[in-house]
Amino acid sequence: MKRHIRFLFALILALGLFARCAEESKDIPEEEENVKENVIKPNDFLSEELYDQLVVQVVYVDGYKPESNSTYHLASFLQSRLNKSGGITLSSQMIESPGKSTYSISDIRALEETHRTHKTTDKTLTAWILIVDGDYTENEGDANTLGVAYGSSSMALFGKTIRDFSGGLGQPSTHVLETTVLKHEFCHVLGLVDNGTPMVNNHLDTQHGKHCNNESCLMYYAAETSDFLSTFFAGSIPSLKEQCLSDLKNNGGK
Ligand SMILES: [Zn+2]
Ligand SMILES: [Zn+2]
Repeated sequence: MKRHIRFLFALILALGLFARCAEESKDIPEEEENVKENVIKPNDFLSEELYDQLVVQVVYVDGYKPESNSTYHLASFLQSRLNKSGGITLSSQMIESPGKSTYSISDIRALEETHRTHKTTDKTLTAWILIVDGDYTENEGDANTLGVAYGSSSMALFGKTIRDFSGGLGQPSTHVLETTVLKHEFCHVLGLVDNGTPMVNNHLDTQHGKHCNNESCLMYYAAETSDFLSTFFAGSIPSLKEQCLSDLKNNGGK
């Protein structure tokens, strides 16, 4: 029973944070250096009006390589939602540890500046995912952020925090948690919820912002519900539910 409660508590902490990632991205100054990435919109990912290919560059700090089935799952999710007839490619690359225990958005931006080699050009759109070996500097008390979508095509995962909250007794597997965060952050880049992709029907969680009010949806904020937790007890990754799916379709996705 004790373990059970601890597990619930850990999930509430871990998953309650999703709300912050989108909100924080609003407060973060726009990227200055890369003009092209600044004008990327969710529709550019969803439709192929401007870009018919997507390259996702995953860069991880040594020791935090995402599990291959996690990146495979992300790729097949993107394949199923985005119109990219020229193909969707994921590349992954290791970097040495920058030697920090916590990372701020400016630390993350600096690493992106150094290591993001794939740039959006012609018909090829790019996205960037960084997995760091530390926690987020903005974590407060027991609140731990697992990931952030901090730019129009830029995301970061806090690999150490994800490991801390997965893989142990009574915790979700690292694959389940890592994939959930990868997909959740990418969906913010795709404009969910009301984050650049208009809502077909109102399903915004007004209390937490940029999240879905469907408690079993991948984009749901709160973890303190049996529906959401049961998804994790079942060991499966939450999927996007109807309202989020129709928003993506309505904004050029499939
Ligand atoms: Zn979120
Ligand atoms: Zn939803």
